[in-house]
Amino acid sequence: MKQKKVELQAPDISRWAAGNTGVPYVWQFDSGKPGPNVMVQAVTHGNEICGAIAVDWFLEQGFKPEKGKLTISFGNIAAYARWDPEKPSTNRYVDQDLNRVWGDDVLKSDKTSVEIERARELVRFVDEADFVLDIHSMHEPCAPLMVCGTTGRGADKAVQMSKRIGVPQYLMYDTGHPAGLRMIERGEFADPDSPRTAILVECGQHWEKLAADVALDTLMKFLVDTGTLSREVAEPHFKSELDYSGRQRVIEVTQAVVAKSLDFKFVEDFTGLEVIEKQGSPIAMNGEEAVTAPYDKTVLVMPAVSKQWTLGTTMVRLGKLIEG
Ligand SMILES: [Zn+2]
Repeated sequence: MKQKKVELQAPDISRWAAGNTGVPYVWQFDSGKPGPNVMVQAVTHGNEICGAIAVDWFLEQGFKPEKGKLTISFGNIAAYARWDPEKPSTNRYVDQDLNRVWGDDVLKSDKTSVEIERARELVRFVDEADFVLDIHSMHEPCAPLMVCGTTGRGADKAVQMSKRIGVPQYLMYDTGHPAGLRMIERGEFADPDSPRTAILVECGQHWEKLAADVALDTLMKFLVDTGTLSREVAEPHFKSELDYSGRQRVIEVTQAVVAKSLDFKFVEDFTGLEVIEKQGSPIAMNGEEAVTAPYDKTVLVMPAVSKQWTLGTTMVRLGKLIEG
């Protein structure tokens, strides 16, 4: 698999290391006025630098919330510190995926890892937040998409929020990851009856220039939707070419294919959002087991063609277009 071109430059975020919350790389700003508690996180995965670019810019601009509180965090700072543009696939995490450790079964256990310890530092901010935006990108060159959480477990409110924001083009209901709970699924975010809402934007391929534009655009539109920034302040930074208002498409993932073997091979170099026309068509070999399209017009979501993976990793999600 040939290496994707690195078009983005990872900013030096060490100037934000001190934070102002007692936790490194976490900044919180209080407007002093009533309003929601809003959190934005970048670099949950160490090599997804678009979020670092957007958040670094945002902090440098000195934006402050007009209502409520705003928390800005850099997630997996230890992995980010290992960024090497010559080996950009090697620092997704240090010990384990930071976005699979957000269940109390992990955080309140005696397990430990670089990522579990970082999540223990961050979790109080997550638990205080009414609205969360978690900024990611993808290994394969794939159109940006919003991961709205799990069907029946809070994804509807995340889809509604994403439609108000109008970005990106694809919104996704999914099935979660057997390997562990994501930040956007923690606590009330997964409760359809709670107004607390968390969204996870996949801004495009990790190192493509577009990903930084999508990250920044989504960040500013999210902060307007939550009332944190006024439209007048944020709108000059919107990217009009990225506006998909009224044209967004919703994918419902029905199953996640998890690696049961280290000998997992896709039948083609898929990149994501391919539509497999016929039920039963081959998609991959999971060791000895064939993975085939479960229905006509199966959409492939985020195939892990060449990222850092292990047994239990979600290798691809399979879904259907449900509207749009
Ligand atoms: Zn990610």
